[in-house]
This record gives sequence, structure tokens and C-alpha cells, in this order.
Amino acid sequence: MRFASIAPYKRAQKVSGTKNMETKSSCPYCGVGCGVIIQHDGARVIEVRGDPAHPANFGRLCTKGSTLHFTTRPETRLLYPELRSSKGEARQRVSWDQALDTAATRFADIIKAHGPDSVGFYISGQLLTEDYYVFNKLMKGLIGSNNVDTNSRLCMSSAVAAYKQTLGADAPPCAYEDFDHSDCMLIAGANPAFAHPIAFRRIEDARAARPDKKLIVVDPRRTDTAASADLHLAILPGTDIWLFNAMLHVLLWDGYVNLPWVRAHTEGFDALRDAVREVTPAVAAGICGVKAEDIVTAARWWGEAQAPMSLWCMGLNQSHHGTHNGTALIALSLAVGKIGQPGCGPFSLTGQPNAMGGREVGGLANLLSAHRDLANPEHRAEVATLWGVDSVPEAPGLSAVEMFEAVRAGKVRALWIACTNPAHSMPQQALIREALEKCEFVVLQEAYANTETAQYADLLLPASTWAEKEGTVTNSERRITHVNAAIPGPGETRADWAIARDFALKLGEKLGRVDAPRLFDYPTVEAVFREHAESTRGRDLDITGLSYAVLDELGPQQWPFPEGAEQGASRLYAEGKFSTTSGKAQFIVPATSLTAESIDARYPLRLTTGRLRDQWHSMSRTGKAARLYNHVDEPRIDLNSSDLDRRSLRDGDLVRVKSRRGSVILRAHVTEEVRPGHAFIAMHWGRNVLSSSGANELTLNNVDPHSKQPELKHAAVQIEKVELPYQALLMRSAVHADVANSLALERAAALEPWLRRFDYAAVSLAGRDFAIVVLRIAHSAPIPAEWLEQLDALMDLQGEHCMAYADARRGVSKKALVEDNMLTGLRLTGETAAGGWLKELMIERAPTDTVRRWLFAPLPKAPIASVGRGRIVCNCLNVAESEIRAAVAEGKDLAALQATLKCGTSCGSCVPELKRLIAAGTPASV
Ligand code: SF4
Repeated sequence: MRFASIAPYKRAQKVSGTKNMETKSSCPYCGVGCGVIIQHDGARVIEVRGDPAHPANFGRLCTKGSTLHFTTRPETRLLYPELRSSKGEARQRVSWDQALDTAATRFADIIKAHGPDSVGFYISGQLLTEDYYVFNKLMKGLIGSNNVDTNSRLCMSSAVAAYKQTLGADAPPCAYEDFDHSDCMLIAGANPAFAHPIAFRRIEDARAARPDKKLIVVDPRRTDTAASADLHLAILPGTDIWLFNAMLHVLLWDGYVNLPWVRAHTEGFDALRDAVREVTPAVAAGICGVKAEDIVTAARWWGEAQAPMSLWCMGLNQSHHGTHNGTALIALSLAVGKIGQPGCGPFSLTGQPNAMGGREVGGLANLLSAHRDLANPEHRAEVATLWGVDSVPEAPGLSAVEMFEAVRAGKVRALWIACTNPAHSMPQQALIREALEKCEFVVLQEAYANTETAQYADLLLPASTWAEKEGTVTNSERRITHVNAAIPGPGETRADWAIARDFALKLGEKLGRVDAPRLFDYPTVEAVFREHAESTRGRDLDITGLSYAVLDELGPQQWPFPEGAEQGASRLYAEGKFSTTSGKAQFIVPATSLTAESIDARYPLRLTTGRLRDQWHSMSRTGKAARLYNHVDEPRIDLNSSDLDRRSLRDGDLVRVKSRRGSVILRAHVTEEVRPGHAFIAMHWGRNVLSSSGANELTLNNVDPHSKQPELKHAAVQIEKVELPYQALLMRSAVHADVANSLALERAAALEPWLRRFDYAAVSLAGRDFAIVVLRIAHSAPIPAEWLEQLDALMDLQGEHCMAYADARRGVSKKALVEDNMLTGLRLTGETAAGGWLKELMIERAPTDTVRRWLFAPLPKAPIASVGRGRIVCNCLNVAESEIRAAVAEGKDLAALQATLKCGTSCGSCVPELKRLIAAGTPASV
């Protein structure tokens, strides 16, 4: 679609008749890259809505994007630079000048004493392209090391390596509009219904318009994406290559391979053909744990399709053979010669909002600007000439896992972390904590004050964030959006690119680099963009035709967009000419190993990790919006009922989950989404909300040899029941809406240091307009009375409006705070079963007569009339699972549910779950 035909893409405009302004930006969560319109008054974000003119989403947003305005509150922001003089000391507020001067001195001293490779930068796919560009130049052009890596290493580096090995360039050849043209879609290792919801809405629309379209989903779990498929291949973790090879075997055997095209446009096919000769569907079925006939069906649907298309994400990438997972999938497109045409091709869904932009500027330890390779001497010389430096270093830098290993070993002595949270997101957390504790000097450049990594920082630098900064981002389909600042950042926050520039100038001075002022002569962020665009001239991603003005005029554009172009390229390789040296695509014979760690008698469960629908990564942003907890309100491990039965466990029991690297305590949640012998933990919960580090306490750091991406997706674990008889539940809301959210956020942050005093503790939010902070505790010993008193004080559960009841003989106590005839505070010990309906009383802000009666009753049963609504499925319209179940039991279909309850009629994120509940026909386990 030619974007110029839509309304001009203006930066900001006044909303008629109000004091409000509107500014166009992009959602900072997933790689779909939806356009948003920020409504604000110049100081505060008031509301967010989807941009109808943005070609990624055409006005739609998912639950996360549509609640962005709830996440911009300043309470948990980092507002000023803070520095500590030595480890163990409290940080003190300092000026920016002192902060950057100290950082420059420490880095310069270490570089002079130990060389440029003794420092490292660990940055983020959340950064804008311009931020990335300056950091990359700072490390490779000024310091003279390639030790700059990013959390994109954990996310997309296997897809990068797979594209480069097969197609010759890190360039997804497809566009979202191809969803409409494809007649067979294969989604492998991805759950877009949760992780890329607006892309999934587009797939749903395409299927509705074309009911004969086939959808195959490959995933060990029966996710909402898998449940909606025509064919779900629930393979065992790590067996993807066997499945894809068996599909290729069938394509060969049944004559679907387009041999003339393969001979004309590819190389290496014969070797792969020989390698898959013995990989029959029967062989693969035994390894993958699926039926042979289903593999044959998938292959035949693929072979018969006019326009077969694959999509993949973390399920393939986060593997110790993630690159070959990708090359094996890409081989299926090459074998049938269906790439570069409408509806065809292998499409890697980007996890983070700007993982693509980071790759474009070479923001990984093995890359250089504009998709140049560090290993290529000509590319190094080109970049040196572009930057006006003598050379860029030759030796590859340290990838994410290697960097933290080097920090732990004392080889990297100063570490600068920007816009990411490795003390939550890296695998094998015990090693990461050890590295961060040992590191001589840790700088954390962050928007939020209380991420798990913040406690390790010697220097905290406050960064501006979404809605406050300008630059560009590139989404999964190579589309660049100009992101605009709507409001100024709070306190002394600065844009990330400006922090990196200012540090570079000071460091250059300390290192005696007289060229630093010229290298970092960026008066504006657009000056950075112009230099980046120029660096792409003649490259596969040439964007010399783009500027902020062009992006504002034409709207977001796909690359390449060379000088003189009128629009970007929807898809690549239409002529069958690829970016390899020979111009031919390459078939790769993949490694056929399985998971990095096998199950055995001690660790018999296959744990996979993934994402929830309404949370994003380590929750530093989504964790601030109470309503985003309403879909899943407590950390948990999903298990099949048979695995609970075998261990005499019940749904809701606390279990200890152990791997060879660590253990965590979580609540067991029974679901048929996971197969017997499998388990699932969402990756979002870490030490800020939980008494442990969550999933990454268990994961392992084995990496793919090509991409260096760690196997975050899978680990072998065991579970056992844990007896924690001393339980407590504390909840606190507020009478007035204008303070409820601030107080809840402040109290949640204050509770964080308490979490690790208990064997199990989890803090979360609840409610919608009046946020409630919820603290759940389970402990092996009686909870000391003074701890409870301190927690009461922290939650402000005291004063004349507090009612209390205690039964020392039964070990039960109840404390309730009633204000304006509403329950606004609660603490239960000993018996917490009534917490569910009491929480709902607080959410509903119902009159408290029933509470008074219940409070002084010896048995803590919920009044009959106070049955809870339960989990919220439709977050936009606040529709609960119990209401949907009741309507389904009456025979209502999706249309009837939408007509009566209105669920699924706003952002649509809950529609896959509604369909699943309808299909189940009875109360489904969720
Ligand atoms: Fe944001 Fe949701 Fe769009 Fe992803 S799909 S960019 S999270 S609104």
C-alpha cells in the first residue's frame, strides 16, 4: 500500500476546542510497531489511541498499547543522577556534570590501565535507532572495542544469523499485507495471539476473508494461537529441525519441490536433500512427539499452497540451535520457490519494538553500521571512512552471555547498561547477580528507578522514555516510523542518545581524543539520523531517501528507500536474486540436536518459558498499570492436571520448582494448555514482584554457536509440594482516585525489599480506576508480629477506622480498614481464603456491611451473595471469565457474546480466548 494516499502524517496538532494536543508516536512494546496517537496537554499524557493512518495497525491497539497512558506516571521514574562513592554505600543525588565526569574518569582510567576491551556496553532493543547509533559509534569508533551488545541478542540474533546464512542479509522479505495474500500460514515457536496481538488480528481478518486459508501452528503448548489453528503440531521442545526436515522430506517425496527454481536461484540443495533422506515423517514423529500423518498433512498443505508463508519468533530463536531452527524453516520456502511474491516467504516476528533498528546500525558485538560485517576488512574500512577514524577494531566483541561471563571473571571491569534489565532477563540469574556484584563500576541508564538491575548500579542516569523522546524505530516488516516527543521528561531526565553523546565528549577529553567533538557533533537527534541514513548508501537497507520530513509527509516507510525513491519496498527478492556473494540463496544442512538439557529421572519436566497477554518483559512499564494484572494476577507455573495428580498436588498449591541451577516457589496452576510432562512459566516475574528471580533462576546459558543466543526457552525441572502453613494477605486501596494509583505504586515499590524475607511472597496490583496493591505471603515459620506491624505501617493499615479480630487459638487474625463505608485495606493471617471475594469488594468499592458481619464471624466463609467475578478476560470492557462462562453455557456464540457482554469488541486481544472458551463449551481451564 502506498502510504502517501492516506492522510498526511503530521507530527502534532491541536485537538479542536480543547487545550489538548495530539502527537504521533509508536507503541514501545512489541515488534509489530503499531502507530499511536498520544493525547496530552503538553505536560501529561492523557490518553492513547491507535493511529488509523499507520500501516502496521490501522488504528488498532492491543491491551498493552491501549493502556500506555496508565504507565507514564512519574512515581517510579528515575528523576536525577545518583552516584555512590563505594559499594555498599547508598547512592546520593549528583549533578549531570558530576555524574558524567565520574563515569568518564572511571572508564578512562580502566581503559588506560587494562585496554579498551576491559569495558562493555549492554544496551537494548527498546532504544530508538539514533540512541543505538551513538552507542555503537562510541564503543567502536571512540573507545576502540566491539564490546557493545544488546538484549536483542536474547531475542532475535538467531533470526539474524538464519537470514544471513540463507538469504545473505538480515532482511525479512515479507510485509504484514502478505497475511492477506497467503493461503497457508505456518507459525512456529510464536504465540502472536499474546505476543504480537495486532499482527494476529490481521491474521484473523485474513482468515475470515478467506476461510480456505490453512493455519498450521507448531508449539509445545496449546496456546490461544495454537487453539485457533487448523492443525496444531504440539512438538516436544527443541525438535523443530526434525519436524521441518521431515516436511522437506515429504515435499521431495511427493514432488512439491520446485527444482527448476531451486537450480536457478539457490545453492546447497543436494546436500540438504541427502541429509533429510532418512528423516521420514515416522522418524520425526517419534522424535517430535506428534503423529506422522500430521507432519504429512502439514507438508502437503505447504506444498499445495500458492502462497505459503512462515512466521517465527522466540520459540525458534531462543535455542542452542536457534540459527538452524531458522534456516530449516527458511528452507521450506526456498524448496517450493515461494519467496518475494505476495503472501510468500519466511517472516521473523521481531520481539522488541526496535530490535530491527539496532541491527541496522550494527548495534551488536559482531556487526557494523548498515548491515556491515565486522569480519569483513572492506566493511571495517568503509565504516572507518564514514566516521573519519583510523580504523574500527577487528576482533569481535563480547555477546551478551560472554559479556557477563567476562564481568564475572573480572575481565570487563566497567559495564554500562542502558534501557534493559539483565538482573531479570538474562538466563542463569545466579551468575548474573554474581557478575554485577563483582563489577568495579556499573552504570545504569534507565527511565525507571526500581528495576532489578538498579540495586547493582554505582551510577544511575535518568533517561527519558516513550512519549518523551524523538527518533525512529523499525518494526518487523522493515517499516521505519518517526517517533515524536509529546511531553518533556520529568525531573532531569535526558534522551538516551544525548546521554551517550555527552559521555562520549567527556570520555574523549579524558582519553586525549581531540577528534571526539567532531565525531559526536550532533546538535539534534535528526543529525544522528542523517548520518545513519548516509551510512546505508548503496547497502541492502539503503534509506538515503528518508528524512524526518519525508517520514512525516509520507508516513512510516519500509526499507530500502534509496534517494529518489517514492516509496519503500513491500517485499524483497521478487526476482530470485539474493544478497549472497553468488546472488543465490543457500540451503543449510542443519545440526539436528535437541534441547541443550535433557529431562531425566531427577528433572523429569520440560519447562518452557514465554509471555502473558497483558504484560511486557520485566514489567517495568506494564507493571505500573493495575488493570494489566487482571488477566493473570499472581506468578504461577502452568502444569497439566496429570502431573499434579501424580504428585498429590492441587490447583493453587505452592510448589518448589527446581532446575540444576536454582529453585523458585510458585503457585501451581492446572491447565490443559500444557501437555503431561511439561510446564510453563511466564518470563515477566522477577525479584521486584516475587521472592525469587522467577523463570530465569532456572534457565541455562548455553548459546547457539552462530548467533550466540542463549536457550532461554527450555530447561529440565522437577516440582515438589512445599509446606508453608503460615500465610498472610495484605491489600490496600484508597478512597480517592487521584491518589489511589500513586499510593499503590509507592507501596508496591516499598514492599519489594520485604519479598525475600519470606519463603514465598508476591506483590501485584489489582483493580481498574482505583489501583489496589496486593501482597501474598506464605512462610514456613510463624510470621513475627513486629513484621506484620511494620507491614501494616507501610500499607497504612492503622488508625481509628481499622477493625481487627484475632483468634489466637486458631492462629487467625483479620484486620480491615473501612473508609467512606468502603473496604480500603485488609490484612488476613492464618486463613486467607476469603481474600478473593474481599478483593472484589475492594475493586467494586461496594458498601461494607457484609465485611463487618464477616470480620467478627469465627469462620471466614464468603457470604453467599459475594461470589467473586474471577479473572478478567476482556480487559477493555471489564468482562470476567465467570460471566463469559455463564453466557457460553446458555449457548451464546462469539457474536452473541460480543452483542450482549461486549467482550472482544474493543482491542480484540481476548477474542482467541473467547473462541477457546466457546469451543470448550464448559468452564475451560485457563
Ligand atoms: Fe503495542 Fe500491542 Fe501493537 Fe505490539 S501489538 S506494538 S504491544 S499495541
